[in-house]
Amino acid sequence: MKVLVSVKRVVDYNVKVRVNADNSGVDLSNAKMSMNPFCEIAVEEAIRLKEKGIANEVVVVSVGPKAAQDTLRTALALGADRGILVETEEQVESLGVAKVLQKVVQEEQPGLVILGKQAIDSDNNQTGQMLAALTGMGQGTFASEVLVDGESVAVTREIDGGLQTVSLKLPAIVTTDLRLNEPRYASLPNIMKAKKKPLETKTPESLGVDVKPRVKVLKVEAPEARKAGVQVNSVAELVGKLKAEAGVI
Ligand code: AMP
Repeated sequence: MKVLVSVKRVVDYNVKVRVNADNSGVDLSNAKMSMNPFCEIAVEEAIRLKEKGIANEVVVVSVGPKAAQDTLRTALALGADRGILVETEEQVESLGVAKVLQKVVQEEQPGLVILGKQAIDSDNNQTGQMLAALTGMGQGTFASEVLVDGESVAVTREIDGGLQTVSLKLPAIVTTDLRLNEPRYASLPNIMKAKKKPLETKTPESLGVDVKPRVKVLKVEAPEARKAGVQVNSVAELVGKLKAEAGVI
């Protein structure tokens, strides 16, 4: 079985982003960029399927600027076999990414597609669901366990207040939650080897997909700064403040 994994290049989760002075977005100049953490989990899961002998090829795909090649190389260093960059300088929204992925799915015919549950830059949590709608495949979102069994896959999903297990007919779409696995680190020899692995470049136009934005961001604002706390001298004073000032008891 071929597994297709979609990986996004995003601002590193350790970077404290600043809102631009004109509130048009966040300032990413010189910011460290990395693979979206949920995509790292997706790559890890695909590699584990390969190690178990369930998958025979792991193909990684990214939609983004030329620099997204680095993200694909990271995935190749972790153990993926082949990369596809769908190159565009346009800020592609989830729907655009899902349409591109639909074409890649048509070309590659994977048995399983694994995506992150959300990208930590836009927090959309949409792409996997949109891809499922466009391809007509079953979807197992927020996965904390993925068990492939013959022609189907059992996906345990993290839902409000518990876990739900669904059985999907393959080919299917899975989106990863945090507890699915702990991604490995790439070793230096594997980073070197990854440089020789095949990486193909396509464009949205060559796939016949229009990725122009449909949504206009009107304003981006930083959260209000936290006010300084106060120290109280006794429990009685605390209770008094909670009653009289905060009005929470
Ligand atoms: P989102 O719906 O934007 O929160 O993203 C959810 C998941 O969709 C990510 O974890 C990726 O697996 C995939 N995805 C979103 N944008 C891209 C992109 N530009 N390139 C590749 N995969 C993406």
